[in-house]
Amino acid sequence: MAAMTVKAAMTVPLLDLKAQYADIKTEMDAAVHRVLDSARFIGGPEVSGLEEEVARYSQCAHAIGCASGTDALLLALRALDVGPGDEVVTGAYSFFASAGAVVNAGATPVFVDIDPASYNMDAHRLEAAITPRTKAVIAVHLYGQCSDLTAISAVCEKRNVWLIEDAAQAIGSEWEGRRAGSVGDLGCFSFFPSKNLGAAGDGGMVTAQDAALADRVRLLREHGARPKYYHALVGTNSRLDAVQAAILRVKLKHLDRWSEARARNAALYDQLFEGARVGRPYRDPRGRHIYNQYVIRVAGRDALRQHLGERGIGTEVYYPVPLHRQQCFATLGYGEGDMPQAEAAARETLALPIYPELTEEQIRYVAATVREFTDSH
Ligand SMILES: *Cc1c(COP(=O)(O)O)cnc(C)c1O
Repeated sequence: MAAMTVKAAMTVPLLDLKAQYADIKTEMDAAVHRVLDSARFIGGPEVSGLEEEVARYSQCAHAIGCASGTDALLLALRALDVGPGDEVVTGAYSFFASAGAVVNAGATPVFVDIDPASYNMDAHRLEAAITPRTKAVIAVHLYGQCSDLTAISAVCEKRNVWLIEDAAQAIGSEWEGRRAGSVGDLGCFSFFPSKNLGAAGDGGMVTAQDAALADRVRLLREHGARPKYYHALVGTNSRLDAVQAAILRVKLKHLDRWSEARARNAALYDQLFEGARVGRPYRDPRGRHIYNQYVIRVAGRDALRQHLGERGIGTEVYYPVPLHRQQCFATLGYGEGDMPQAEAAARETLALPIYPELTEEQIRYVAATVREFTDSH
């Protein structure tokens, strides 16, 4: 077949962090220089300031900065004493860390299928997955929309297991008026650059309502030492750098504006896909969706992705392999067909550009290019 060249009318990357930086460059540069001038690179007022601000923003009594969202999950599991012999139930469809952290804590992940509309754990399937070995449930708030925290926390209370919220993609999202990270025993956040609140590198945060649990997380992130050099627990080094904290404090002030812009962009896509053969993201009326991703469901997903790529539009597949089908989990014994909704999502979904700085013209171009494909296939 002869190579076909298509002239892209414009370029729309999946995410444009340079546009965000251009918008807040003065504040960002000042924040970085403030830390450089202070030479307080570990701990200090930027880190404690961000912890207080994220706790308040997320309706939590406590927040503890750490090195990444992955570490937030691992610290949470360890603070709850999850380890060898324990099972942790989570959805079969997420970023790998939601399950990898369980294994790194020494425990065994148990997967439940997802709700095909929200892509979050199907709360109706949770109770059947709980056994006497279950120590915790990790509810992931995928793409920026909370899991059904009412149903999930009811099951956790009834069966006496801990609830961890993986809110890595969901800072500021809400379920029945309660912010992500504030409902479970511990909440885990990521400041990876592609999240709604992204650092200039890695970073994470654990939130808690209970002071004793928060204290355990705080202890574990610094080798379990209190005072310094006296170790009650074996922890790790998982701190949030002061430079990252200073950057995140600047960005936190803009977060609501950005999340609202994402929601506006999503509403425009929804409207432009009206009547098209495009499965639009479901928005649960009980929650606030912050649209970390705008994920559509289509037949011929891979061909559509290529069609868009050739026309200058960045997309991503989150995620091509569901957790229960990852090679490293083969020993858990799951097979193809065990989690049909997660498997269908892995085959049929595609994330489109949704970042706040998108122009209406770009959104219209993306939607028209999607429809050009779906209307003719
Ligand atoms: C990004 C993400 C994580 C991990 O965060 P890192 O900061 O990249 O380690 C965990 N869970 C989910 C659902 C994520 O999207």
